Amino acid sequence: MKKLRIILSAILILVFGYIFAGEIFFPANVPINGDICDTLPGDNWVRVMSDGSKIPFEVPGRTDGDIVLETTIPTDFNRDYGVLCFRGMDMKIWVGDELRTEYVTTDYPLLGDRSAECYILASVYPEDAGRTLRVSYEYNSGMVYEVYIGTRLGILKSLFRKYGLELFVGLALLMLGLISLIAAVVYKYIHKKYLEMEHLSIGVIIGACWVLSNSIFRQLYTRNISVMSDIPFLMVMVMPLPFLVFVDSLQQGRYARLIRAASIIVTVNFCICIILFVTGRVPLVKSFVFSALCALIGITVMFATLIMDFRRHLIDSYKIVAIGFCVLAVAAVIQIVAYAFAHNGVFSGLFMAIGLFGFMICSIIHTIKQLIGIRLEANEMMHISKAKDDFLTNMSHEIRTPLNGILGMDEMIIRESKESRIRDYALEIKSAGNTLLSIINDILDLSKIESGNFEIIPVEYDVASALNDVLNMTKIRAQKKGLDYRFDVSESIPSMLYGDEIRIRQIMLNLINNAIKYTKEGYVDIRVTSAPRMMGNQADLIISVADTGIGIREEDKDKLFRSFQRLEEKRNRNIEGTGLGLHITNKLLEMMEGHIEFESEYGKGSTFTVTIPQKVVKAAPVGEFSKAVRQYLSNIGTDEVGLYAPQARLLVVDDNEMNLDVMEGLLKETRIKTDFVTSGEACIDKVAANRYDCILLDQMMPDLSGEDTLREMRSRDILGDTPVIVLTADAIIGAKEGYISKGFTDYISKPVRYEILEQVLKEYIPKDKQLSPSGSDELPVMLIWGSDPDKLKAEKERLDGIYKCVCVIGDKARDKYLEKHTPAGIMHITDEAGTENDPVSE
Ligand code: ADP
Repeated sequence: MKKLRIILSAILILVFGYIFAGEIFFPANVPINGDICDTLPGDNWVRVMSDGSKIPFEVPGRTDGDIVLETTIPTDFNRDYGVLCFRGMDMKIWVGDELRTEYVTTDYPLLGDRSAECYILASVYPEDAGRTLRVSYEYNSGMVYEVYIGTRLGILKSLFRKYGLELFVGLALLMLGLISLIAAVVYKYIHKKYLEMEHLSIGVIIGACWVLSNSIFRQLYTRNISVMSDIPFLMVMVMPLPFLVFVDSLQQGRYARLIRAASIIVTVNFCICIILFVTGRVPLVKSFVFSALCALIGITVMFATLIMDFRRHLIDSYKIVAIGFCVLAVAAVIQIVAYAFAHNGVFSGLFMAIGLFGFMICSIIHTIKQLIGIRLEANEMMHISKAKDDFLTNMSHEIRTPLNGILGMDEMIIRESKESRIRDYALEIKSAGNTLLSIINDILDLSKIESGNFEIIPVEYDVASALNDVLNMTKIRAQKKGLDYRFDVSESIPSMLYGDEIRIRQIMLNLINNAIKYTKEGYVDIRVTSAPRMMGNQADLIISVADTGIGIREEDKDKLFRSFQRLEEKRNRNIEGTGLGLHITNKLLEMMEGHIEFESEYGKGSTFTVTIPQKVVKAAPVGEFSKAVRQYLSNIGTDEVGLYAPQARLLVVDDNEMNLDVMEGLLKETRIKTDFVTSGEACIDKVAANRYDCILLDQMMPDLSGEDTLREMRSRDILGDTPVIVLTADAIIGAKEGYISKGFTDYISKPVRYEILEQVLKEYIPKDKQLSPSGSDELPVMLIWGSDPDKLKAEKERLDGIYKCVCVIGDKARDKYLEKHTPAGIMHITDEAGTENDPVSE
């Protein structure tokens, strides 16, 4: 690699050395004849006055109006001379009595009344030597410029040598400005972040346009020289604006008022000058002095803010740009001086262009530093967000662990207490604990969403099963409140979709639970439909939840989706909630490119409708499901088939003894043979020595965490196909997916709810070890019926072991059960607290 670099350097020195040698040391050999440009002597001109008298006139020189000049064409005439070259506006050129060239600007229709200075050529021949050359300048800018005689190419080359640098710098500036602008815009589009360079680039492009439109070569690259000659005035008018925006953004709006005032002055001047120009009242050249003044105000304001920042030690964050600004200011001063003292009166914006170039380079350096800063900041943000994530996980764990104990112990009181009053108290604790849990969940979800670490995880899912889950989780609550619960699923919904099923369920639960919460009487009506999308294999899943609840006041409608915003706090103070549900719903929908709409009439009810685009995996309609739902809803009884698996073996691992006690209590009636251990190491020993049907493994343990323990068991190959279910207090959105991806079979969040535990164990304990209630023992069957599922369950738990209990809700379900079965006894649990019927044998 080193050798390659040396070879490359040698080659470059040779190539560029050859170019330099060619330009500097080798003899000139441009093969064009007559590469000639001479200047007509300036001291033998005379001005022809209107009365015919003549007075000497020095060229170049100044004049106050139209002028006719005369001189003699040199007698030592070079045979290669071909043209005379003048600069001016309207002009007539005679050699002897012959009119050689005429330039009349009124021949070209213009906006305003001004034409432009340009170079005008007149032919000249050897026989013209010694003849009189007469030039009449009409309406010129007050300057008579040098007159050249030579060949066309010679004159052009000479001009290029004198003024070409300005052209180069102008072009380079334009390129730099355009490239920077494109880069800034692309960056903004991709990273959604504004770079100050964007407005600086616009300013520089305007500067470049000013230099190029002012160049003496403009007639070489424009069709309409008069329009081109207006451009410098327009550019000076608008140039301060992008620079003001740029400086304001650099200073983070510290002097916004001052900057705004300067911008307003510049804008007002622009509008007035343009109106006067377009209506033909004041040409741009005449209003230029005001534009220059406004530009000066802009520059002064920018300077003043820089000085203020300097004094307040705030300039450090952009000192390179401040240096660039000083370079520009110095260049501007030199430019003005150079203009005032220009010996030949030709205006060149070279110094200004160089100043702008310097400014741009300084700003590019600043931007590069800024980008590096953004990158570092992004890294830092990643660390902060990781720390936030860890904090959330820890907090989640810290809050949930004691709650696990409270709810678990409470569950045991509900199960074991024979006193109905105590059970009622315990049920209250359960309900309050669950509310607390949902509040914690909401807050954790929101933090996760707002920290930007939340991801939508699309999977293929079975629509019927997802809807069924939602139905199961909401129906009883609505019915307990005495609401008419309707769940209508359109038969044409595709049966398999691709999307984030968990979030869709969460959204539905939020809306349905709200409808139940905020409705005292009437109905809650859920409708699920779908509509095909034009693009690709997609469909919109449309879920609407209507209720006959309290409705939302007109003035509250705007606040609905804000976080922590609860409406009518006083009226709703008895209804639990945090004001986060709809905010989270809305955020989730945004992430899934869906949307939510609602209609609500205060006092009458509300309808929330969400539309979520999903990919269609199986277009076959869900059809049957709707029938099943209807059937399910009509059969409001629930046959409670408990888990009973005395032959199954289970291992529970948790470092917290109380959690193990809770778990033991919860599992007692399943009669599963359970081992309890308090560490990862003990778990590994147990698994190595025994064969378990399922392992419940706590994640957060000292020494070996759940994850480490799982990895160790897999590496020792002692686990076989035993399902390992992680027990964790980390219940933030996405946690479940995270654990499953780490190799756990499933996930149970703490505090462990018995229903969930039972559901998961039923899934993973081999079916042949789960005894059906009728076959599991020879106990007599007791039918328990009533309307409150919690009370039924409590009663069932009390009688289990004495009777094989079957619980049903409502008398219809009771009758239906009795059509097919003959239980040993029937028990009716009435709604009043504390009263129970004794078993009645039949
Ligand atoms: P909360 O946890 O308070 O229910 P949400 O974000 O879910 O929070 O709802 C915000 C507020 O919007 C609620 O406090 C309630 O005032 C109002 N709201 C939501 N859904 C309904 C509804 N179906 N009927 C009447 N008001 C509702």
